[in-house]
Amino acid sequence: MTYIIAEPCIDIQDRSCVDVCPVDCIHEFGRILVIDPIECIDCGACEPECPVEAIFPEDALPEKWTPFVKINYAYPDKTEEINPLVDAYATEHDVKNEPID
Ligand code: SF4
Repeated sequence: MTYIIAEPCIDIQDRSCVDVCPVDCIHEFGRILVIDPIECIDCGACEPECPVEAIFPEDALPEKWTPFVKINYAYPDKTEEINPLVDAYATEHDVKNEPID
């Protein structure tokens, strides 16, 4: 299994999760961070660090955010798909995440 970063990360990219990941498998793209599903060791350290609760174990991801499975799994072999997928999702769902302090 892996962890998945979902909609609340879009345009926020707090990066607190990056600081605690022991295997450096969280990567930044244009509007979101994604977790490398191959390198993730499923430790759970990142989940409580996220101030916008964007990180879930894959088997506990809210169904409405299923598209983010494909977005995270695009790493590492289809990284060119990540930004277009996020842009398309954000447009379709009219994502307007407010910046955090
Ligand atoms: Fe990194 Fe652990 Fe989070 Fe996986 S679950 S992304 S290994 S901190």
